[in-house]
Amino acid sequence: MLKINYQVQLGGWQKPDIIPFENLSIHPAAKALHYAIQLFEGMKAYRGVDDKIRLFRPDLNMRRMNLAAHRSGLPIFNGEELIKCMKRLIQIDQEWVPHSESSTLYIRPTLIATEATFGVMAPESALLFVVLSPVSAYYKTSTDGAVSIFADPNVVRAFPGGVGNRKVGSNYGPTIEATTRAAQLGHHQVLWLFGPDHQLTEVGAMNIFTVYINENGDKQLSTPPLNGLILPGITRRSILELASQWEDLVVKEETITMDRVITLNKQGRLLEMFGAGTAAVISPVSRIGFLENNIHIPTMQQAQPVFQRLKDTLLAIQYGHIDHPYSVIIS
Ligand SMILES: *Cc1c(COP(=O)(O)O)cnc(C)c1O
Repeated sequence: MLKINYQVQLGGWQKPDIIPFENLSIHPAAKALHYAIQLFEGMKAYRGVDDKIRLFRPDLNMRRMNLAAHRSGLPIFNGEELIKCMKRLIQIDQEWVPHSESSTLYIRPTLIATEATFGVMAPESALLFVVLSPVSAYYKTSTDGAVSIFADPNVVRAFPGGVGNRKVGSNYGPTIEATTRAAQLGHHQVLWLFGPDHQLTEVGAMNIFTVYINENGDKQLSTPPLNGLILPGITRRSILELASQWEDLVVKEETITMDRVITLNKQGRLLEMFGAGTAAVISPVSRIGFLENNIHIPTMQQAQPVFQRLKDTLLAIQYGHIDHPYSVIIS
């Protein structure tokens, strides 16, 4: 497997090269990896039935990665150029893109400071590299395909003024212990809450959505607004854009609290809850553990669930069953 390697020195980015994985450890830019200054992206290359390989809205990953670079004190880079390099890399490694619609080639662009120092200061060198690996939709579920999630009001993932809205490494390490604890209690993921009113923010490393019958008796798809606590997911954005074209659904960005979830559920108005992200596309939720409550969400009992329609639409675009501007053919 190959990696694209960019190297930045004070004077600016050097010309990118594609170097063999085996040689990366001796590459001069990799002499040190900074423990605190690191950020990444999560993308996939999809092989369609037509054997063409596609990326899904890669320009949005590049824009988001540059926002994270800026926030981390690392230099921003030319996203179009990195997309070009990744296309070339995937062409070289094209046999690693699975010939299957249940798996994909995961793409992990990473930017890390490479200053050989213990000081927390603006780095003078950084390494931008891309790791590729075949993956399946990798989240564990119950036998019905849904997940059980655990909400612990004592842990937060993100806070105002923080970096919860950027894919920086420092957001993810602290989630491991809470996720392990959730697993010990029989849950698959953590539902991240925020504030005294227990606002739902995200589930695991996915954006969260609910479907319920609103005050006007209409079916509504809701997700929390991008208020700084929410990772601006590309799947999230695509879902909002696609679903707002559907006439039988009201689409809204709004704060949802645990009290609201419990009330809607008691009234029989809560229909679905699901997580959304590149890794699992859409992950339906069937249960929430919260304080002493064990809340059953009837996501899997719906006759024509919104989550399934969205998932089918996204997969059809990603694997090229329908032509859509979100999909970029690379070979
Ligand atoms: C990556 C990520 C998402 C999903 O973003 P996509 O662009 O849809 O893959 C959601 N939440 C968190 C915390 C993430 O890291």
